[in-house]
Amino acid sequence: MTDPIPTIAPPPELLDALESARRPLLIAHISPDGDAIGSLTAMGYMLYRMGKDPILACQDKAPNTFNFLPFYDRITQNVDGVNADLVIALDSSDPTRMGSIYDEAQFADLPLIVIDHHITNVYFGDVNWVEPGCCATDEMIFHLARALNETLDEALATALLTGIVTDTRGFRTSNVTPAVMHITGQLLDAGAPLAMITERTLDTRSMALIQLWGRALDTVELADGVISAVNTIDMRRDLGGLIRAEGLVSFILGAEEAKVAAVFTEMPDGKVECSFRALPGYDVAQIAFDFGGGGHPPAAGCTVDGDLPGVRREVVARLQEVVRTKAR
Ligand code: AMP
Ligand code: MN
Ligand code: MN
Repeated sequence: MTDPIPTIAPPPELLDALESARRPLLIAHISPDGDAIGSLTAMGYMLYRMGKDPILACQDKAPNTFNFLPFYDRITQNVDGVNADLVIALDSSDPTRMGSIYDEAQFADLPLIVIDHHITNVYFGDVNWVEPGCCATDEMIFHLARALNETLDEALATALLTGIVTDTRGFRTSNVTPAVMHITGQLLDAGAPLAMITERTLDTRSMALIQLWGRALDTVELADGVISAVNTIDMRRDLGGLIRAEGLVSFILGAEEAKVAAVFTEMPDGKVECSFRALPGYDVAQIAFDFGGGGHPPAAGCTVDGDLPGVRREVVARLQEVVRTKAR
């Protein structure tokens, strides 16, 4: 019988580098999502099992939501003075995604490996393993585990499934192939708790987030197929700090008239974080990339200098062009 999971082979240089590393520094992207933390903990746990002494790092604190993952408590925000011998960037499409963790002075002399699935990846490593066809970086780590003959145990399977579940919003995106479902079957066989992962990472939200959604929904506008909303500093002043309107952009894309959705988050440093989603057939990755960000055709983001109304106006106009171009 043919294997229902076609091989996706990591580059030999990656396998060699892992083989000889003793203290690899693993970096997940800033404002980490489930795939960033899932691939960070899966790699960290697997490398530890292989007898390495990995450092798991992320500039921003991993949300408590993910505290069921192996080595969650080992994730550090401070790598001053660590004696790493290899750096691995995970789920990161360009060097800025590593944030303050990648200190040039400290790490520029070490080999840098990039493991990522974003189509906008700029190949910033010495070895770049980029698979835009994969639904999650965690899907790539599954293939890496296979190439290394590493067995799936419950902890590894849980970390791998977390990235797959979150990046596909619960198997709802068009990059969920039969192979992804076969991989998921193997992860379930190994004991990964799908229902718990889904419940914790997709269905549980804080009361503050629900209140923020309420306020942001009041700002929704729809024109020429583009729906957008804003999350202002004022709106979240009494909600316990800088919270993002997690999940809102996918929700508003559900409007019948919308082809593309955007949420604009006002930041205290005079920048605006933009989060985009698109229906199949529309590409928001290119626009995000043009504005210095990145992502996938149906889900992308960028951070733009400027005031909130100005950025919203400029970016929405560009997104409307995307919709018009496709309609022709
Ligand atoms: P989000 O809207 O934050 O869930 O992000 C959607 C997708 O776009 C994810 O794959 C992110 O990794 C990517 N993305 C978001 N913001 C940026 C950015 N500033 N630069 C590069 N990629 C981004
Ligand atoms: Mn991510
Ligand atoms: Mn990802």
